[in-house]
Amino acid sequence: MKAGVIGLGAMGAGMAANLAHSGQLAAVWNRTSRKADEFAAAHGVSVADGPAGVAAAADVVVTCVSADEDVLEVVEALKPALEPGKVVVDTSTVAGETARRAAEIVRSAGGEFLDAPVSGGVEGARNGTMVMMVGGGEEVLERVRPVLSVISGKAAHMGPVGAGQATKAVNQIMAAGINSAVTEALAFGETEGLDMERVIDVIQGGAAGNWFLQHRGPNMVRGVFDPGFKVVLHRKDLGIIRQTLAKKGVMLETVERIVDEYDALIADGYGDEDISALFRRKRAIFGDNA
Ligand code: NAP
Repeated sequence: MKAGVIGLGAMGAGMAANLAHSGQLAAVWNRTSRKADEFAAAHGVSVADGPAGVAAAADVVVTCVSADEDVLEVVEALKPALEPGKVVVDTSTVAGETARRAAEIVRSAGGEFLDAPVSGGVEGARNGTMVMMVGGGEEVLERVRPVLSVISGKAAHMGPVGAGQATKAVNQIMAAGINSAVTEALAFGETEGLDMERVIDVIQGGAAGNWFLQHRGPNMVRGVFDPGFKVVLHRKDLGIIRQTLAKKGVMLETVERIVDEYDALIADGYGDEDISALFRRKRAIFGDNA
């Protein structure tokens, strides 16, 4: 089974590299051609001349682009090369409604679609260990599992198209709260004059330990906020979640608070930093003591 990857950003590049190492990668494409050319030179795969070129070369097309309109644009561009048996697996984080619209477009051209958002950070994409939350036909998932098992440690079927994105929304609300809690606690810890690397190490072994503390804590206390997961992308996810909540007539305090925090970070020019850049604002709470 041959795979193709569209979108060689922080996440897509790791997925594509793992597929290349497994011998399953037939072609890649990236909007900014320089990234695709560099990837092709490093991994010895061909660069397609557009999204349809990837679909023509592959049985499974893995897409990983930024936002809702980007997914729909890419899926439209795939159409000419879709035919029965071809499966589009979208790993981007978008609204469930967008996933359902993308599935309609793919099906109208004869192919099949899975929404398969992921979690595990750039490390998880690089190491092939991220989890994947999959919506769509269970039999379609089983058919493409040989490809997905190379890029994900666990690809779980969650329900029909859109259920993957709904599960990812649960993850993103939780991630907002965790970011807030970890950055606030570490900013406090600094004001206590502690050795923060030791603090992170010991807490990681106890009940408050978590992925974000382990993978972002050490850089954070050194003032390094390389992405990672960009502030603008988590802000985009929280915007989608807000719309879903509004339909239920509900507001969540964690979501509202982090949206405000991220908007302030973006206004200050930190939108392309990792979400751990929230530490900048938590440090500022303690003023000169931080
Ligand atoms: P990224 O590094 O900013 O990469 C985005 C990729 O999407 C780039 O290859 C970009 O192409 C491409 N793209 C954007 N708009 C496009 C369009 N209209 N047509 C074609 N290509 C387009 O972002 P990322 O961190 O890899 O995230 C990608 C997706 O995964 C997002 O939905 C994000 O929310 C989700 N995600 C990210 C993480 C994480 O930790 N980073 C974790 C889980 C899920 P160019 O190179 O031309 O800009």
